[in-house]
Amino acid sequence: MASTSAPSTSPALEEPRRPAEGLQKKRKADKSQWEKVVAKKRRDSGLEYVRLATKKVVAARKVGEPCECPKACFTMLGDCTVQEIFSGYWKMADSNAQSAYLSKAVISREVSDPRVGPNSRRKVTFEYAVYVDNTRTVVCKKAFLSIHSISERRVSYALKRMGETGVPPVDRRGKTAAPHNKAPDDVMQLVHDHIMSLPACTSYYSRAKSQYRVYLPPGYSHKRFSQPYLVG
Ligand SMILES: [Zn+2]
Repeated sequence: MASTSAPSTSPALEEPRRPAEGLQKKRKADKSQWEKVVAKKRRDSGLEYVRLATKKVVAARKVGEPCECPKACFTMLGDCTVQEIFSGYWKMADSNAQSAYLSKAVISREVSDPRVGPNSRRKVTFEYAVYVDNTRTVVCKKAFLSIHSISERRVSYALKRMGETGVPPVDRRGKTAAPHNKAPDDVMQLVHDHIMSLPACTSYYSRAKSQYRVYLPPGYSHKRFSQPYLVG
């Protein structure tokens, strides 16, 4: 776990099957669509990707410079934990989920400034925190941004959208209309929450291949999987 880059292989990132050779007419459109999907997935996963508009290669994300604050946040957390938080963030591979995560990790507070009158613009401070073993640990802003390898703008975007709507912002980049067969977001969230609540095991044999792949314990059939969700 000493590596500083995100896992380079993930089943979710395998290239979608290319269209059949015979479909000459559709091939051009399919290819650009395919490139878009791959680029977005790679970008949301923190991997190197090609920005299609400019054809420029954007480097893979990696943990940034440690902070120099008195708390020495990186030392406090330890390199291994820093790396785990970084990997956990990017393995979400979904900018909406990442926004929801950021809006929970960063808390904004209005503070009254005694030097200015009550009618002046209220000041807002931000508290940045990471979760280690389910414990909220406050870190400085510099450490927070470095650990996740994100910009302050990315955090502001997540907070702004969450503040306006109370739900995770929907990433509209590159989208025209929602697919007709897409489940509503709240249903998707319920399903996600349910899946995350299931007991998960790692497999000794798969660890070398993908350390993040987890399995349902023996006896968890599809029926058993779906039942608690349907009644609850
Ligand atoms: Zn710090």
